[in-house]
Amino acid sequence: MSRNESNTIPQILYDYSVKDAEPEERFDDVTVLAAEVGGVGAAALFLVDQTSSEQRWVVKSRHGISSLREAPAFHSVCLAAVTAREVMVVSDAFADARVTTPPGTMRFYAAAPLFSPSGQSAGALCVMDREPHEFSLEKRRSLERLGRQVMAQLELGKQRSELERVTRETSLLNEMGDLFQSCLTMEEAFLVINRSARRLFPTESGALCIQNPTKGMVEAVAFWGETTSCEPVFAAEECWALRRGRVHIAEEPSAGLLCRHVSQVPWTSYLCIPMMAQGETLGVLNLQAGRPGERLTAAQQQLAITVAEQAGLALANLKLRETLRSQSMRDPLTGLYNRRYMDEMLERELYRVQRKQSSLSLIMLDLDHFKQFNDRLGHAAGDTLLRALGGLLTTRVRREDIPCRYGGEEFVVILPEATLEIAQRRAEMLREEVRQLSLEGEAHGPITLSLGVSSYPQHGRNVAVLLRVADQALYRAKNEGRDRVVVGDASELEPGDVAS
Ligand code: GH3
Ligand code: MG
Ligand code: MG
Repeated sequence: MSRNESNTIPQILYDYSVKDAEPEERFDDVTVLAAEVGGVGAAALFLVDQTSSEQRWVVKSRHGISSLREAPAFHSVCLAAVTAREVMVVSDAFADARVTTPPGTMRFYAAAPLFSPSGQSAGALCVMDREPHEFSLEKRRSLERLGRQVMAQLELGKQRSELERVTRETSLLNEMGDLFQSCLTMEEAFLVINRSARRLFPTESGALCIQNPTKGMVEAVAFWGETTSCEPVFAAEECWALRRGRVHIAEEPSAGLLCRHVSQVPWTSYLCIPMMAQGETLGVLNLQAGRPGERLTAAQQQLAITVAEQAGLALANLKLRETLRSQSMRDPLTGLYNRRYMDEMLERELYRVQRKQSSLSLIMLDLDHFKQFNDRLGHAAGDTLLRALGGLLTTRVRREDIPCRYGGEEFVVILPEATLEIAQRRAEMLREEVRQLSLEGEAHGPITLSLGVSSYPQHGRNVAVLLRVADQALYRAKNEGRDRVVVGDASELEPGDVAS
């Protein structure tokens, strides 16, 4: 029983979530009783703290000794009991060759080891006295019995906190599921994940990362915790879970495969869970232990897997919905909004600017002699031109402007808040830019547009009239020789149309 031994505990120790070294009153009855039963002056209850990185003994209750001056001798006797898995008795420490630690003021020690129901060591119940003593078989039994009472109490506490944890997690998971149901976009689902993860993993850190197929990268879309060391953007190959399509656990910095998207300083053990849905890998959920040296418990790992499964399903559904929605509102050739969507948006935008007493303009544009272009260079080249024009419209308008493919080679740009003058200038700019357009590998002359512009409130107060005025202006641009911008004329309106 040397002093050094007390630092190494040879047993697999049991976690009773004893997190701090503070004494707990609920055990004071036990130590008082232990001293009485043993007919001695002092007693102490030692438990093993397994949750911190360095295993340590904590004194949960002491009776009859006020200081921890006795600690070295204490520890060695308790450790000997744990190692031998039976009651250890030192009748007189001053005369016992086994006691090599400074004996302190106590001469008598008896310690009964504590076991969990599965037989793992959890600590020891120790009685002490300043006088040497004998310790009868009967007293040993009593000390063991008291030890079992301590364990029964700890087990109950453990079961209660397990139950509370499961109840809490279940309700948070249900809430997350409910919120997912109400999400309309993936972005909303990211917010739900962020919020739920913060509550489900209050002491851990982590990130949810999504594969972005267009960029070929994985991007973190939700972060939680204080020590997240997951990169915000990384390549799929940098994650072992994504590479292998399997949960990847890294518990030791030195042991095995570490993901490069998780920074290693300071080292914390972590878990990466691939999110799969409908045979597709959507991304990865990363969860890291709260503090360096800590490990994720089996329960935390399982919870993370459940969250990844639920999130994966929800995200896959939303992705599908977004694809369908985009298909229904976009023209597949140019990627621009289609006519149906334009009608909807125009109604909405017009209503909005009317309330704000602002203006709104429309540019309707049509490629000149596009039929000839097709005939000369082929339909595929025609498609290329339409795509190029789509790209140009998308990049050359303001963020709030809405370019649409109105039909064949006819396009409409909605310009909310733009006056007639601004829209006219914008139309001129587009005409100039399209003239500069040159399609790779095609010998074509300058590409020209005819454009018609109409504006709220000058030309009309409803969508149909504004479109008609722009269309008539476009028609005039064609008639007057093409390659030009013509502004609408309210005087051309029919008697039934309401112009301002
Ligand atoms: P204008 O200057 O009067 O507008 O003459 P235009 O030849 O451009 O007009 P017209 O209406 O006579 O012909 C439009 C052509 O656009 C006919 C059609 O084949 C072609 N077109 C419509 N949609 C597409 C498409 O998706 N791809 C291709 N390549 N051509 C298309
Ligand atoms: Mg045309
Ligand atoms: Mg046309």
